[in-house]
Amino acid sequence: MRIAELNVTPIAIADPPLLNSNGLHQPYALRTIVELVGEDGISGWGECAGGRRMLDAFEGSRQHVVGRSAFELTRLQLALTGNAPDATQHETLMGRMNPLPAARRVFSGVEVAALHLIGKSLGVPVCDLLGGRVRDRVPFSAYLFYKLAGGGGEVDDARDDEWGEALTPDGVVAQAQAMITRYGFGSVKLKAGAFPPDEEIAAMLVLRNALGPDVPLRIDPNAAWTVDTSVAVALALAETLEYLEDPTPGMAGMGEVHDRLAAEGLRMPLATNMVVTAFDDIPESLRLRAVDVILGDHHYWGGLRAVSHLGTLCHTLGLGLSMHSNSHLGISLLAMTHVAAATPHLTYACDTHYPWQHEADEILVGGKVPIVDGAVVVPSTPGLGIEIDRDALARGRERFERGGIAERDDVSEMQRRVDPAWQHIQPRW
Ligand SMILES: [Mg+2]
Repeated sequence: MRIAELNVTPIAIADPPLLNSNGLHQPYALRTIVELVGEDGISGWGECAGGRRMLDAFEGSRQHVVGRSAFELTRLQLALTGNAPDATQHETLMGRMNPLPAARRVFSGVEVAALHLIGKSLGVPVCDLLGGRVRDRVPFSAYLFYKLAGGGGEVDDARDDEWGEALTPDGVVAQAQAMITRYGFGSVKLKAGAFPPDEEIAAMLVLRNALGPDVPLRIDPNAAWTVDTSVAVALALAETLEYLEDPTPGMAGMGEVHDRLAAEGLRMPLATNMVVTAFDDIPESLRLRAVDVILGDHHYWGGLRAVSHLGTLCHTLGLGLSMHSNSHLGISLLAMTHVAAATPHLTYACDTHYPWQHEADEILVGGKVPIVDGAVVVPSTPGLGIEIDRDALARGRERFERGGIAERDDVSEMQRRVDPAWQHIQPRW
């Protein structure tokens, strides 16, 4: 099954003004949509990080993709990403957004598209190509953000604000309750690092009170805290959290948080999508006891098969596994769903930004993928179980061309909308 064409479409999707320790989400998030057309005319689709740099990387990959068999994924990966160790990758994830090696992200988009193409050609769902499903529904977590008013997009392309402003503990609780009412989520995460830690601790305690003891809670400040602050927050929320995600910068800092908490007699699982983002990061994280839960992400780790391997490795090493997310559309949601379905050792509900994306921006025929009772049903139809709405894809491309955002930059958006003097400081508190 030869790949006859590689079509790469940059798109922009409206994104609400969500706060995080890097600043503020811009009015549009960027994605790259990948189409592989097989020699028999069947198309497979993938989705990965967006922006001009990704487009350049895709152009550089074209010679390795077109003409190759869609089954030849390992050789394609070697051609695109090589064998070079990437042990220092975690150091680059500390600064501005999207600094990870572009080649692995390119491969992830092509791999998903190739598996979709193969699945459609054989008449089987992608999870069957990954060993077959062990679950029929994949649980996702509500992903709360501190948020300014506004629904994303700009001027005559602005979206309704479906969620409202959330800048206080009560605002966060209202957002949680609205998300749970709409999607039935059974666990809840707060993106933190936007306000002083005492305010964010208060928000978690109010959430616990409002949602009751049966809803697992997580907090993720994206390394906004010093080791001392991380330890203080963990102690304050010892009875409240199922895990604490990336409290402080760097592998050594995370290890120190672990050791300090252990000395206090607290076994608080530490989760990450920042200090362990590649297989080569794992040995050092074990040596430092820096991480208990890895948030896998097929866009970072090198595709769906890599996340499947990561599941096996986490099981062997006694680590938990969940999934990280960035702003994304339904192709990525279903790619996550298929690999999660085929991964026995998925120990927590996955993260997703999907509820933040507006129906008008989805590029799937039939619109947004339903999340019901906090889960996505694993499709049984061929491939990822999707068809692409090419008109909607063209509208996404128009938004990209018109929007003027070449790369994600949460710092400049924070300066533009909130405080011209704002700087990214890590750790801030
Ligand atoms: Mg995170």
